[in-house]
Amino acid sequence: MSLTTDRPDVTPQRTAAEVARAEERTAHNYHPLPVVLSDAEGAWLTDVDGRRFLDFLAGYSALNFGHGHPRLLAAAHAQLDKLTLTSRAFVHDRFADFCAALGDLAGKELVLPMNTGAEAVETALKVARKWGYDVKGVPADTARIIVAAGNFHGRTTTIVGFSDDPDARGGFGPFTPGFDIVPYGDLAALEAAITPSTVAVLVEPIQGEGGVVIPPEGYLRGIREVCTREGVLFVADEIQAGLGRTGRTFACDHEDVVPDLYVLGKALGGGVVPVSAVVGDRDVLGVLHPGQHGSTFGGNPLACAVGLEVVAMLATGEHQRHADALGAVLADRLGAMVGNGVVSFRSRGLWAGVDIDPALGTGREVCERLLSRGVLAKDTHGSTIRLAPPLVISADDLHRGLDHLEETLR
Ligand code: PLP
Repeated sequence: MSLTTDRPDVTPQRTAAEVARAEERTAHNYHPLPVVLSDAEGAWLTDVDGRRFLDFLAGYSALNFGHGHPRLLAAAHAQLDKLTLTSRAFVHDRFADFCAALGDLAGKELVLPMNTGAEAVETALKVARKWGYDVKGVPADTARIIVAAGNFHGRTTTIVGFSDDPDARGGFGPFTPGFDIVPYGDLAALEAAITPSTVAVLVEPIQGEGGVVIPPEGYLRGIREVCTREGVLFVADEIQAGLGRTGRTFACDHEDVVPDLYVLGKALGGGVVPVSAVVGDRDVLGVLHPGQHGSTFGGNPLACAVGLEVVAMLATGEHQRHADALGAVLADRLGAMVGNGVVSFRSRGLWAGVDIDPALGTGREVCERLLSRGVLAKDTHGSTIRLAPPLVISADDLHRGLDHLEETLR
């Protein structure tokens, strides 16, 4: 199967016009690659000019099950004809099933559904503070939460306030107090930062936006031990790393670690609707009472119907096994590129951060070259590109995309 057109170097007219129109009428908070997509199936997308592209980003892991997965579409279609929104003022008939299934998948008692990732992170921060005051006995308004340097947890003012990325936080202060930043992967620094006011440690088990940064073996286990010993909640932001991406249901599973709160999003909505959630046991999530937190759309019937199907698909372990098997292929192929355009890479499952030789161009330029060959990927910082194909990608298509990467770097 060929990718794109005979002349991938030429931007067709329709694409050029749509890109220009989009730029004219939107705030420039993104710098998208110049492609205008209109259709998709599985790991493949088609643009308005009929060119085909292989998806090596999967909506930053929101499309772990690929585009238009028949089971997810069927669940969504069936629910669309029945009931789509009630608000949480009433109970609907998909709510309990979804919460029970997701809680069971995570081995936790309670689920608090939200919509976006940032909302779920905000929810976890509120729960951690409330737990600190109600259960741990921290004096009012003094709770502190430890986060890691290089973190990415979303874009709200509180969340960017504890980012150390100048682009993310610059110009948006004043920020919410109560956060301490320690180097990622440094357990001793994290332990040293704990005070009697510390209520939680919030980390990504693998830093996605940071460039697929994998902490040293034992880091997550160490956080678990320290948090248990010190009476501090371990909050794992698995929004990008979780739900099959790394070859396990949760990235924490690689160290057999169970956090107090899982923060989930992206793939939970199956690429169909935004679905996020905070998942934990009653002794933690149970601190919230009516009126203290909410969301009009969180846990709506359509979201629950799709989320329930996502959980059912993950419960078999099939997607995790596929990601694990193809992850070995991805790591092998990238290993062979080291010294041939790739300086270094980090990968786990079907997820990789690839540091390109800066002499070959910026990450953005490499992604533009991949685009012209029909492969969609995204740079993170400087010369790093992130590869995250849908977990349903075939071995042939994975090789096809990696052949293009290899040739692009040659
Ligand atoms: N947390 C992590 C680890 C993420 O990667 C992201 C998004 O990339 C978020 C939170 C924010 O999710 P959303 O964009 O749905 O608000």
